[in-house]
Amino acid sequence: MTLPPVAGQWGRPLPSQRPRAAPTAPAAMGDWPLQMGPADAMAAIDEHAVHALDRAPAEVRLAWQTRQLHRLLQFVRDTSALWREALPPDALRARADDLSALPIIGRAALRERIEQGGALPTPPSHGRAMFGSTSGSTGMPLRFHATELAQRLTQNQYWADHARQGRDMWRRWAVVGPQVAAHPGHPHADIPANPWRQAGPGLHRNTEGLPIADTASWITRMAPAYLFIYPTLLTSMLDAWESGLPAPAGLEQVTTFSTTVEPALRERTRRVLGASIRDRYSCEELGPLAMQCPHDETRYHVSVSNVIIEVVDDSGAACAPGETGRVLVTGLHHWASPVIRYDIGDVAALHPTCSCGAALPSISQLLGRRRSLIRTAAGEARFVRLTTLDWLDIAPVREFRLIQQDLQSLRLELVVAEPLTASQHAALQALLARRIDPALRYDIVELGAIDWPPGRKRQDVVGLG
Ligand SMILES: [Zn+2]
Repeated sequence: MTLPPVAGQWGRPLPSQRPRAAPTAPAAMGDWPLQMGPADAMAAIDEHAVHALDRAPAEVRLAWQTRQLHRLLQFVRDTSALWREALPPDALRARADDLSALPIIGRAALRERIEQGGALPTPPSHGRAMFGSTSGSTGMPLRFHATELAQRLTQNQYWADHARQGRDMWRRWAVVGPQVAAHPGHPHADIPANPWRQAGPGLHRNTEGLPIADTASWITRMAPAYLFIYPTLLTSMLDAWESGLPAPAGLEQVTTFSTTVEPALRERTRRVLGASIRDRYSCEELGPLAMQCPHDETRYHVSVSNVIIEVVDDSGAACAPGETGRVLVTGLHHWASPVIRYDIGDVAALHPTCSCGAALPSISQLLGRRRSLIRTAAGEARFVRLTTLDWLDIAPVREFRLIQQDLQSLRLELVVAEPLTASQHAALQALLARRIDPALRYDIVELGAIDWPPGRKRQDVVGLG
């Protein structure tokens, strides 16, 4: 059996993720994991290893992470002049719980290193390296390389999360969105059952160019127990169901990925669908970074078998447990385009364990992209969390974007169903002054459409960077 494609974080399916014909099994192969084609056997072992490291005592996990880190550091020093120059001579002093011997790298520097260095010559056991790319909407697109091993582990990390979240994948599941492979002439693609992955048949629906109401009705008709969907698309579906279309029955979990999930979306999903959101924190360069705790929706379990996550302050020193700071990520399996102490641009708090009792690090207060920080007139960085719901109390706002122009002023772009009245205008000014800073000037502009950059991620609060 082939691996069913998974709702991954890759912009497009890389060659090895595209559905392939099942390898022709020699007649001698029986129907038992270690006699099957290698994909299912490797998947079973990968998933086992993910859970084993999740449950291992901290010292065992840290020792494994440190060994992986040292292999990676040795490899980049041996194969890349750029990394050799960047790393200090005592780089191997770094341990999984203390990476301070290594330099922090930002997005621009990482891009330069990847572009200049190309794919590093990875060992044969990592398979071929292929191009992936992050979405261009971040304003700084990044093309990077990922090996077949890195891609396989990314997919199998996501599969391992089904057991973590208590999903019975023999029940109906559906992946919906523009990232799903097209299925011309069919309302969806049927993904075959795979007993070795403990998964029954799934449904994939590509939503590109389809009216929202069609997909909302399709979900209701299919009535999956588990739905995998981008938060922005989920919001559109909820709009459709709340405006009169029958909502699906029997949905238990909605798995989201890619953009920050606001508490309001969790509440709305519970209210309209009776389902809980199970969010994934990931990045395109490394795949899963942390998965929502199955018992506490404010916490995410760090994907310890894939990455090391640190949270540091502006000076680069580790934050105290529970204190918010900049998220740094280090990928343990991604050798073709190594990511080591990369400042991904997000802010969160790190805890040594989880509130549910799990003995592995967790993160909370995942506040999204740091580039969404607004500077107050006094120069202080401030998170601005305004959603459409905040505006709707005041005016029929359909879309918004808040852009800081300089240290004195912000531009609020709005798409509104009806032109703003003077009192709505004043109420919006008051909201901004209250939520951001009364000392800043706010230029409110009504537009027919917001000029969003291409790509699926929409950044609705744009700081000075
Ligand atoms: Zn937990």
